[in-house]
Amino acid sequence: MKNTLTIALSKGRIFEETLPLLKRAGIEPTDDPNKSRKLILSTTRDDVKLVIIRAADVPTYVQYGAADMGVAGKDVLMEHGGDGLYEPLDLQIAKCKLMVAAPVQRSKISGRLRVATKYLNITRQYFAQQGTQVELIKLYGSMELAPLVGLADYIVDLVDTGNTLKANGLEPTEHIADISSRLVVNKASMKMKHASIQGFIEHMAAAVANN
Ligand code: AMP
Repeated sequence: MKNTLTIALSKGRIFEETLPLLKRAGIEPTDDPNKSRKLILSTTRDDVKLVIIRAADVPTYVQYGAADMGVAGKDVLMEHGGDGLYEPLDLQIAKCKLMVAAPVQRSKISGRLRVATKYLNITRQYFAQQGTQVELIKLYGSMELAPLVGLADYIVDLVDTGNTLKANGLEPTEHIADISSRLVVNKASMKMKHASIQGFIEHMAAAVANN
């Protein structure tokens, strides 16, 4: 009997950009996740299922083996820490940069720097390496608003074209990391389902090379 493979994906950009790669690897969902409310999608391969979850939850599902594999942004993986995961392939999709940004016109900061972000671990580590003491403010979205309303001096966020920063009077000040989506694999699955996972990785690597 063939091993069943479960792949965790998040809706939106990652799903849209992973789909063509999966298609070239011979896997197509039989339901449209934008129309269906199903969280587990069947595919044209009866041994492959897709689970649709929040982007930040992908490493957790894969770490605990609830999914054998997943696709997650490097930002999400850095924030998670990568325990229990292999990261065998850069899918070269959803590329952007993780940056520190601040108001173009900033007044002198007195006292400890306040930084708003959803990436608490990455930000703590980054400023610690710089030897800068900061106060972290956890947000779940719209980080760009924080400096405009006096909630924070700096933000740490993803930047693609830079248009969102610009539209809000902000500019990037430091580059933390280049980001793209990665294929991640549960360490136990990699051993137990080695042949099917290795085959899948090779198909995906070929699809990335032709993308
Ligand atoms: P931009 O205006 O093109 O620099 O895009 C910045 C906005 O899009 C920010 O709100 C980011 O959080 C978001 N963003 C940019 N790139 C990505 C990505 N690869 N994945 C998820 N969100 C992104």
